Amino acid sequence: MRIRAQVAMVMNLDKCIGCHTCSVTCKQTWTNREGTEYVWFNNVETKPGIGYPKHYEDQDRWHGGWQLDGRGRLTLRSGGRLKRLTRIFANPDLPSIDDYYEPATFDKDILVSAPGGLNDTPVKRPHSALTGEPMAVEWGANWEDGLGGAHERADRDPNITRMPAEAAAKVRFEFEKTFMFHLPRICEHCLNPACVSACPSGAMYKREEDGIVLVDQNRCRGWRMCVSACPYKKVYVNHATGKAEKCTLCFPRIEAGQPTICSETCVGRLRYLGLVLYDEDAVLAAASVRDERDLLDAQRDVFCDPHDPAVRQAARDAGMPEEWVEAAKRSPVWRLISEYRIALPLHPEYRTLPMVWYVPPLSPVLDAAGAAGRDDTDADDVFHTIRDLRIPVEYLAELFTAGDADAAAGVLMKLAAMRSYMRARTLDGTVAQDLLDSIGMTAEQVESMYRLLAIAKYDERYVIPTAYSKDAAALEAQAAAPGGCSLDFEGGPGLPVDLTRGRS
Ligand code: SF4
Ligand code: SF4
Ligand code: SF4
Repeated sequence: MRIRAQVAMVMNLDKCIGCHTCSVTCKQTWTNREGTEYVWFNNVETKPGIGYPKHYEDQDRWHGGWQLDGRGRLTLRSGGRLKRLTRIFANPDLPSIDDYYEPATFDKDILVSAPGGLNDTPVKRPHSALTGEPMAVEWGANWEDGLGGAHERADRDPNITRMPAEAAAKVRFEFEKTFMFHLPRICEHCLNPACVSACPSGAMYKREEDGIVLVDQNRCRGWRMCVSACPYKKVYVNHATGKAEKCTLCFPRIEAGQPTICSETCVGRLRYLGLVLYDEDAVLAAASVRDERDLLDAQRDVFCDPHDPAVRQAARDAGMPEEWVEAAKRSPVWRLISEYRIALPLHPEYRTLPMVWYVPPLSPVLDAAGAAGRDDTDADDVFHTIRDLRIPVEYLAELFTAGDADAAAGVLMKLAAMRSYMRARTLDGTVAQDLLDSIGMTAEQVESMYRLLAIAKYDERYVIPTAYSKDAAALEAQAAAPGGCSLDFEGGPGLPVDLTRGRS
């Protein structure tokens, strides 16, 4: 057993209001530069919808992530080293700017510099931020916000096309009436990152101490294999430098014990950050289980209980500081994933073992219960909706449990039971033991789960130890050196970039 620590995130989707504050603050911090106009390390998409870039979840099209070969071995869907080498100069699995969107800017000066006496009000017209040419704005990173245009396109959502035809037809019918939610997405900082394995230059790497996946700008040669291999399409090419860039999990803040920008500024307070201890020796076997529907439990089994004395000792033996071992015990992420088992990974079937997990939204089920004439405050009615209607459940299962509707329904049952239990306890002063029995949890567990989901304070939502003290001196020296802060450089986050290298 080799114990490692991963900084991981959980997002509670019932609380996301789709305000895009997280996207904007991330952009202002990390991608407010030439070459990254179309890049959103954090984007928020409406589901059902085809997402950003378009249809990124369709791996038959993009060949991202991993698959098992005929002998059950894990291989990149984008092909082996030889196949990838033959595609270095013509890669058919690369999204074009049209798959993202062409970024626009506006000629705002005309509003103040237009001569007086005009018959018409001056209008600022959109111009391409890439070419400067006038353009029509026809797509964007959140074009489908609030189901915008969903009646035309949402049935091409890969999560719907993968569903059985009968259920898919019902989803198409239902979502227009009752059913949508927001899905914020960042890089998953996967335990088995396809982007790292696909990089021919060794520029993509996963940090040993905290699992954050970064790009070494000095080593990147702009081959873009990482873009194809990432099934979540969370690596981007800076078209000014020709190099790859991605979400850094705001590592300078994490090293200082602070939450990421997208978490800090989240209006819904729905993000949780903390450590997960895992057994590095178990990662390959977990990613290689034959049945996709076993991947959720296989990944959960890779995580180690930070309260187990043997795990704690193994962590210390691996060189982990005591502060980190203690922080792992208090991790809200571990509690949501492994103790309460209500957080789920996004598309486990990609086999990258993603480390940004989601508490699925109960709201589509409540809406469906209401639309079916049931009482959405009554646990029995909500349970029946989950069991009978199945439509939101099967859609959520395509997103979070590789299509296993029972696993998705089990989580929704817990959330519904928690609501009803807390309502009875708060309004009537009664303890609904039957509800606790139905989900196999104790009153203490449900109440602490409620506290974490509903009213947790800043220090409970973010439990982040500071950087390894043995690295602190090196980090300080790096920052103090002339031009040493890598964030000050033109050309992107991470290490300083030599703009003359790696263009393609
Ligand atoms: S989600 Fe992030 S870590 Fe995972 S494969 Fe994509 S870029 Fe790599
Ligand atoms: S963790 Fe930081 S870099 Fe990543 S999406 Fe959030 S704000 Fe952006
Ligand atoms: S800031 Fe929070 S609530 Fe707003 S869109 Fe982002 S994740 Fe959702």
